Amino acid sequence: MGKAAKRDRLYTGMLLGVTVLCALTLLYAAGSSAVQTFAQEAAPAQTALVPGPLKGLTVAVDAGHGGYDGGAVGRVSGVPEKGLNLAVAQRVEKLLTLQGADVVMTRTGDYALCDEHPPIRRKLQDMQRRAAIIRINDADVVISIHMNEYAGRGESGPQVFYREDCPAGRLLAGAIQNAMIEGLSPRQKRTALGGDYYILTLGVPSVLVECGFLSNREEEAKLLQEDYREQVARSVVQGLLDWRALPQEKPQPLPAVDRSDEPTAE
Ligand SMILES: [Zn+2]
Repeated sequence: MGKAAKRDRLYTGMLLGVTVLCALTLLYAAGSSAVQTFAQEAAPAQTALVPGPLKGLTVAVDAGHGGYDGGAVGRVSGVPEKGLNLAVAQRVEKLLTLQGADVVMTRTGDYALCDEHPPIRRKLQDMQRRAAIIRINDADVVISIHMNEYAGRGESGPQVFYREDCPAGRLLAGAIQNAMIEGLSPRQKRTALGGDYYILTLGVPSVLVECGFLSNREEEAKLLQEDYREQVARSVVQGLLDWRALPQEKPQPLPAVDRSDEPTAE
């Protein structure tokens, strides 16, 4: 091997060395940028791995009454239930969202869902439009929020209603009733009851929550307080979480009642 050949070899070797070094640098750069990309994507990916317990559940929250229809009235304060219902419903919405649920509100302000003119059969039109919102959004569960009243002032305590003879509604109502007794410690501990309400006949597990009696002086005072309404909302959501976590298979709800042909005006 002559001097020139040796030099050539050395040169080739150096070239190879530089090439390998470059390749390694490139690999390292690629590697670190890959790591960076992963790190940037890791946060949302990890969040997705820990879904809220209500992830995948669409809950319709219905604030009872509104607009011309005030509903029950506070015996002492004269405050109608419509605004209190909306306040509780909006807290329920917030809490459900934090638990990962998709929430559909049937109303978000002080209005009824019926036409102003003509003012005939407004209640039915209002209910039909609430039902349409719930149906269009494919809700899995319906929670309607109300306040109770009774001629006798002694009656008090939250009470949850479900569609008569509907085992799916009864199971959900029972879970929410228990959670409300636990969370609110009412003087009168009521049991969930079957009832005949339009909003409960849409073919999904549905409850109508009477948060308390506005005809009872003590309970009216509580329901007028924001802190108490917050506790009410938390109890309702806790009930839904308890229901969701039940190990048993959930019974099928009764099929929807078709009320589309009911006249909305006379
Ligand atoms: Zn009501």
